[in-house]
Amino acid sequence: MSHLFYQTSQRRPLLDQARGVYLWDVDGKRYLDGSSGAMVCNIGHSNPNVLDAMRRQMEKSTFGYRLHFETEASEQLAARTAALCPEGMNKVFFVSGGSEAVESAIKLARQHALAVGQGGRWKVISRSPSYHGCTLGALAITGYAPLTEPFAPMMRAMPRVPAPRAYLDGLDPADPATGAHYAAMLEAEILAQGPDSVLAFVVEPVGGASTGALVPPVGYMEAVQEICRRHGVLLILDEVMTGAGRTGRFLALEHWGLSPDIVVLSKGFAAGYVPLGAIVARDDLVAAVLEGGGFLHGFTYAGNPLACAAGTAVIDEIARLDLVQNAETMGAALRKRLDGLAARHPVIGDVRGLGLLMAFEMMADHDSKAPLPAHLNAHQRLVDIAYDMGLIVYSRRTRDGIEGDHIMVCPPLIVGEQHLDEITDTLDAALT
Ligand code: PMP
Repeated sequence: MSHLFYQTSQRRPLLDQARGVYLWDVDGKRYLDGSSGAMVCNIGHSNPNVLDAMRRQMEKSTFGYRLHFETEASEQLAARTAALCPEGMNKVFFVSGGSEAVESAIKLARQHALAVGQGGRWKVISRSPSYHGCTLGALAITGYAPLTEPFAPMMRAMPRVPAPRAYLDGLDPADPATGAHYAAMLEAEILAQGPDSVLAFVVEPVGGASTGALVPPVGYMEAVQEICRRHGVLLILDEVMTGAGRTGRFLALEHWGLSPDIVVLSKGFAAGYVPLGAIVARDDLVAAVLEGGGFLHGFTYAGNPLACAAGTAVIDEIARLDLVQNAETMGAALRKRLDGLAARHPVIGDVRGLGLLMAFEMMADHDSKAPLPAHLNAHQRLVDIAYDMGLIVYSRRTRDGIEGDHIMVCPPLIVGEQHLDEITDTLDAALT
């Protein structure tokens, strides 16, 4: 009998070891990690250089409380992180995960509004579907009904705009008019709410688990940034899943040359070696908050030296192994293979993604985009069959959490062609 409990009573085998792109359970069965955990283990498992860096840090110190000490490890990671962010974003605050980071970004934004005499701004607009975390603050801006509804009475309702699902709306994502159409919905919402009451817009640059690697239509992200600027609304990019090389750039924002106000990082940022997240904010924004009385926020483990040493070593490995480039190259190779699967398996209605943030969606009908009947639970069945065959992939409901079935295929960025073959051969058999 296990004393652990998670989301469901379903039990998975005990994990024994993990190396590179593979994991082994205690019975010696091998699994290819086709989802990097939950899009986390970007540099693969048990990277020896990261383990060495952690060992070296552990021998020096494992904890220094933030109000008593800075550490070399946190200073170093902050500098490395800022250097990877757009110009003028040099201020970093560490936390232990994605939800904490999202909450931190929202609280920093609010304290900035207060510091600059805009205390009327408190509404945070987000999109539906979206996922920003499971704590009550992050959940309040998450657009995924089954996760949020039970807690609705406990959270302040926040405005949402539709995530641009051009393929469902019959629009061409390559047509700039499509991007403009969805961005206009944000502006309309800001105007409806009253711009002076809107604090921030939070967005995943490429949709994550809630939409299945949904890439924004051409022009959308740039238009969104322009609209936010014009209305004094802070732009917060949730790069928890898209960051650390996943989309073929270190940050997804590089695809569109964006300069947001706050960037949120976690997952691949420490690649599963330690719990770590961060927010990176514009210098002037943080300066205003600090001058205005300080950042009223903080977690006991913020800036933990072991976590930060691991984070720096992960960034080193991403650079040394040229993983951002590999994500782009292997992403293109994976897309070709998934397109090939779609040609053989009519149940695949859409293949999408950027870099190695890839997904496909299963549908009952390509033309009408009708989803499979929800009771079939097709996404979970495919995940379970693949798991039995030794391939781990990640799935969710595509359409607001209620129906639709997408499978995310997001292996570690260290994959080669042979791993992609293994992934697609297994998916082929599982789909059959
Ligand atoms: N934001 C995004 C985009 C995510 O994908 C996730 C996790 N799936 C989170 C926030 C929350 O991160 P965590 O689970 O580490 O709290």
